[in-house]
Amino acid sequence: MSPEQVGEIRLTGISASSGICIGKAYLVDRDGVDVVKRYLVPKERLNDEIKRFKAAVKKAMNEVRSVIDRTPEDLREHALILETHLVLLKDKMLYNRTLDIIEEKRFNAEWALRTVVGNVKGMFAKMADPYLKARVADIEHVSDLILRNLVGANSIKIAEIDKRVILVAHDLSPSETSQIQLERIMGFVTDRGGKASHTGIIAQALGIPAVLGLDTASRIVKNDDIIIVDGSEGVLIVNPDEQTLLRYEERRIRYERFRAAMTRDSHLPAETVDGFRLKVMGNIELPEEVVSVIDNGGDGIGLYRTEFQYLSRSDFPTEFELYDKYRDVVEVMAPLPVTIRTLDINGDKAVSYMSGEGEEANPALGLRAIRYCLKKPQVFKTQLRAILRASAHGNVRVMFPMITSLSEVKAAKRLLAESAASLEKEGVPFNRGIETGIMIEVPSAVVMADVLAREVDFFSIGTNDLIQYTLAIDRGNQEVAHLYHPLHPAIIRMLNHLSKVAAKTGVKLFMCGEMAGDPMNVPIMLGLGLEELSMNPRSMPVVKSMIRSLNREEACAFFRKVLEETSSAEITRLIQDSYGGIVSKKFQVPVDGNEW
Ligand code: PEP
Ligand code: MG
Repeated sequence: MSPEQVGEIRLTGISASSGICIGKAYLVDRDGVDVVKRYLVPKERLNDEIKRFKAAVKKAMNEVRSVIDRTPEDLREHALILETHLVLLKDKMLYNRTLDIIEEKRFNAEWALRTVVGNVKGMFAKMADPYLKARVADIEHVSDLILRNLVGANSIKIAEIDKRVILVAHDLSPSETSQIQLERIMGFVTDRGGKASHTGIIAQALGIPAVLGLDTASRIVKNDDIIIVDGSEGVLIVNPDEQTLLRYEERRIRYERFRAAMTRDSHLPAETVDGFRLKVMGNIELPEEVVSVIDNGGDGIGLYRTEFQYLSRSDFPTEFELYDKYRDVVEVMAPLPVTIRTLDINGDKAVSYMSGEGEEANPALGLRAIRYCLKKPQVFKTQLRAILRASAHGNVRVMFPMITSLSEVKAAKRLLAESAASLEKEGVPFNRGIETGIMIEVPSAVVMADVLAREVDFFSIGTNDLIQYTLAIDRGNQEVAHLYHPLHPAIIRMLNHLSKVAAKTGVKLFMCGEMAGDPMNVPIMLGLGLEELSMNPRSMPVVKSMIRSLNREEACAFFRKVLEETSSAEITRLIQDSYGGIVSKKFQVPVDGNEW
């Protein structure tokens, strides 16, 4: 779309990572691949069409071969998948059938291929064998490769983008998002994705503005369009007029200044005016993010999401590979604690080489996290041994995700004890008194909290999943994102219950979900008596600053009032009425944030 043709377009989505960026759009998506044109080829041009198809397949084969050649030895298994793609590219079912259709029906190559792929996918989907079912993804992959060559579209190679741009995509997986290079990518927007999705969490970790769930952005925006991404408000402006540009440039500068001011004070302790001290910790996905935790004044790492070491590769990492990564983090942070969460795989972070289990209709309710680990004790023990080894180098805690019952905690602890015993036997040093905790992120764990408390040293409340499972809202689905309410009274009551259990049993109570990183929630956190809040490192300075301006005793009284409210809207209003003034004065923004 050129500025002369169309005026400014404003789209509203879900705010995933705050900040503002202004720049040129780069469509990383299935441009030209999703919508395939259909036309009849004149008889005299049939030969050319066949040649065009063959050339596209040949190019795709060369592309796959060159990736195979560049695949290092230790990723041989990945190369094997690519070898399968090579075979599929010339498979009779795909290749010959497409050529037949071009000849018989005189369809253009793109449409002929699309027709054949549709039939083949239909056939595979009916097969009972989960392995064959899973091959549908391979067929889609090779047909995309051919289509891209036919329509001349780019493939998604985020790591290779060499200009400063803003990404516009239909969807980005957590592993694609983690390939983003900060020097080049200013921000991104996607059609899909919901509140607290892992893609949004990574955007926050990277510190770039992001808006998700825009629905039609990748169809409306064209390459090189000038766009504004307002990650704080969840707004995308395409082809802005001059006034809008000026206004947003001003806001961008103001936002940068505000961040700089916050960061300057981030080393100050998170202590309320009446002397109550909280620990503000960082959530990390990759070892490199430790720097950001330290720079933003973190008191340790409250959540180290370890699954990213299992993504973007073709086999399971070894004990030593994991140990190396954990040790780096632990040594840099020592003597501050590092809470290593065991593998929380599947859900929205599926790993291709683990897909032998067959496709799951409801991954969020499926073989995820601790369930997967208990089913694969070898994979689990490899990780537990690596964590224990790392514990010899600093202050390590181990934390189990997605706990729903006492038996799961006991089983996980048994495997931890077995891993410790094997290291002991081998004479490998580790911390015998390693602190052990669980994530409270499923309603059954809240209900059973008093029983679970007997087994562990700490609870860490994972509000992202707790909200998802309590309110039955898929955290990655933009259609229901408006119903995702951290301040829903049901959530508040659960938090209150956990706080009481903690006071009674002495189990330590932390929070590491996104809810902990919102300064407006700080009065509630104080009222709950949480000892530690763990969040995206970039949220730490703002949350610490908020803590420093509040009185704990007042917050406790305030929380009692919150408990009497019966809707999220009322609770939100109560917070705004009681604390909005402090927030807007302190952070120089109106409470609703409109003036960012
Ligand atoms: C959570 O569920 O709140 C959490 C912190 O874990 P994750 O976002 O990785 O599921
Ligand atoms: Mg979770």
